[in-house]
Amino acid sequence: MILPPAMLGMLGGGQLGRYFVIAAHELGYKVTVLDPDANSPAGRIADVHLCSAYDDAAALASMAETCAAITTEFENVPAATLDFLAQTRTVRPSASAVAIAQHRVLEKQFVRDAGLPVAPFAVINTAQDLPADDSGLYPAILKVARFGYDGKGQARVADAAAAAAAFEQFGMQTCVLENMLSLDAEVSVVLARDADGHIVTFPVVENSHLNGILDVSIAPARISDVLKAKAQALATQLAQKLAYEGVLAVEFFISEGKLLVNEMAPRPHNSGHYTIDACVTNQFEQQVRALTGLPLGDARQHSAAVMVNILGDIWQDGEPAWSKATAHTALKLHLYGKHEARPGRKMGHFTTLAADRDSAHNQALIARSELG
Ligand code: ADP
Ligand code: MG
Repeated sequence: MILPPAMLGMLGGGQLGRYFVIAAHELGYKVTVLDPDANSPAGRIADVHLCSAYDDAAALASMAETCAAITTEFENVPAATLDFLAQTRTVRPSASAVAIAQHRVLEKQFVRDAGLPVAPFAVINTAQDLPADDSGLYPAILKVARFGYDGKGQARVADAAAAAAAFEQFGMQTCVLENMLSLDAEVSVVLARDADGHIVTFPVVENSHLNGILDVSIAPARISDVLKAKAQALATQLAQKLAYEGVLAVEFFISEGKLLVNEMAPRPHNSGHYTIDACVTNQFEQQVRALTGLPLGDARQHSAAVMVNILGDIWQDGEPAWSKATAHTALKLHLYGKHEARPGRKMGHFTTLAADRDSAHNQALIARSELG
């Protein structure tokens, strides 16, 4: 067990890393953040900010020397970085789990081979791999295998000709072509698994997206208890098959009443932000606990909660007027301190809390319309 005031290492300096730093600080740990951006949200509040590339040998050597254990806030860390650090330090999650989560082909195949349900898909390495119009896969979504996020690197295609054009537009990099499903809902499960295999699951969250970016998360989800239990069981199975150590997020589609695994993230997740204000232990404290070997915290939700993302789009005319959002006394405003607001960039979020989900949802919709 690694106890405070040990130094912990965080690969990545975005908002997820920032909340890890906050949770670690609350428990009395120190944190070193590695991120090449001098103004990164996590780097700015870390005890030490190594402002270097993720494969910088000197920075990695310094991290290995000074940090008792190391984790990540994003899946695109080079595998070699995790392998190097793991030679001498505890690294959670493992390089092999991250390698699967960062590659859509490996991820889909892993989930399918683990016996979990996924949307029908084909792996596209060359144009010859594109299925014919009568394959049953169209209409479909073509997704690049690497570095896609927030709907980026995705194209909706009606037929083989459109798929070929999109594949060419993506520079013919390896892709997954996935049948476009009609969705009843999307939900996600965040869980933590410790080194002894204990798993603690957060409540199931219901997510809606706008332009491919998470927009609103409602907790608890408006689905049956049977489906909730099933989603938690599937996420648990996945964590076990991966021999996962750390916080894992699993996104699901619900289509024709059935759950399908969409994708996973080897870290806390935007849809788990409600846990900051609504759960006994939040997903970032859980990440600290799983990393250091402290017992996993109680994940019980004590308030119904609705989280709304705040994107850079509303900075068009300068800093938004926060007076309305801050006037709501059961609304928790979170701004990440990013210097530059760009359309689609996650600048912050807010969470409304209430005794019941529908009140929390109504308040969230009111607060969001006030923001513009
Ligand atoms: P990322 O979150 O990495 O951008 P996802 O694969 O989760 O990529 O896709 C983003 C969103 O696009 C999903 O949350 C969902 O709303 C929609 N989407 C993705 N794949 C499908 C599909 N096969 N059928 C229907 N909608 C999809
Ligand atoms: Mg997604």
